[in-house]
Amino acid sequence: MTTPESFLSQLTGLFASPTAENPTVAMIEAAYRHHGIDARYINCEVAPQDLEAAVRGAVAMGWAGFNCSLPHKQAVIPYLDEVADSAKLIGAVNCVVIRDGRLIGENTDGQGFITSLRQAIDPQGQKVLVLGAGGAARAIAVELALAGAAQLIIVNRNAQRGEDLAQLIRDRTSVDAISMPWGAQFAVPQHVGIIVNATSIGLFPNVTEKPDIDYDTLTAGMVVADVIPNPPRTAFLKAAEARGCVAIDGLGMLVNQAVIGIRHWNGFNANVDVMRSALSELFS
Ligand code: NDP
Repeated sequence: MTTPESFLSQLTGLFASPTAENPTVAMIEAAYRHHGIDARYINCEVAPQDLEAAVRGAVAMGWAGFNCSLPHKQAVIPYLDEVADSAKLIGAVNCVVIRDGRLIGENTDGQGFITSLRQAIDPQGQKVLVLGAGGAARAIAVELALAGAAQLIIVNRNAQRGEDLAQLIRDRTSVDAISMPWGAQFAVPQHVGIIVNATSIGLFPNVTEKPDIDYDTLTAGMVVADVIPNPPRTAFLKAAEARGCVAIDGLGMLVNQAVIGIRHWNGFNANVDVMRSALSELFS
């Protein structure tokens, strides 16, 4: 029997409420096992009034960092020493890196989306239709703008929220952005190369639902992406594929944002396939 050099694991995890159903732990721990890294990722149920104590506790215990999900993505910002530029623009932090006792806030949601999208297309110079204006849409719109998209068209059920996001992009980046009202069977404007469903439509268990657009205005070769990770092949993506579009699923976004988190915390590039199959098993 050999004696391990150390019994002290590097700690990472998730602060959220609720956390019990968050599956990120499965893919991150699969990556740690695959790479033989002595690290743990722990889901922590943290109530809003306990967030500050949890953050201070993570620093005190020498955690490498943690993800934040609802309801902490904005609330965590006052407890951080530094916030990355894109996270500032998005106004939310979903990944905190603890380095030499300093807390640095990042937003990896939109970056994970862009990495996943790039498997099919570089958004630079593209006209992009974004459905939705919530947290995921905001992160995606900001990263699309930073990646050099030519124009963003934001379409949201709540029109004011859609216009607010378009205005943020216009005011804070050099990219043109407009909002359009979401009427019945919304027709995709001409010259759109990429469409993103950044709403929660189609999320399990509502798997037959899809965004109300005129699917006859999709054209072959368009890249159509969904943020919904479960199920990975949404009704939206199926309808787009039936019209010859290239589909990018939400599992890719979820996996790639975790890859970026692991790089920040542990300093290595985790195996995407190992993480994707850990999640796919859960969602199958
Ligand atoms: P928010 O609650 O912040 O936003 C929800 C968005 O969906 C809003 O734009 C809302 O419109 C729209 N919406 C909801 N229901 C409808 C409907 N019936 N018709 C039209 N629009 C609708 O949520 P998030 O942005 O945080 O999350 C959105 C989805 O993204 C979730 O399903 C989540 O699972 C997924 N997600 C995936 C990630 C990944 O890595 N794959 C990462 C983060 C999120 P309105 O403003 O009008 O209410």
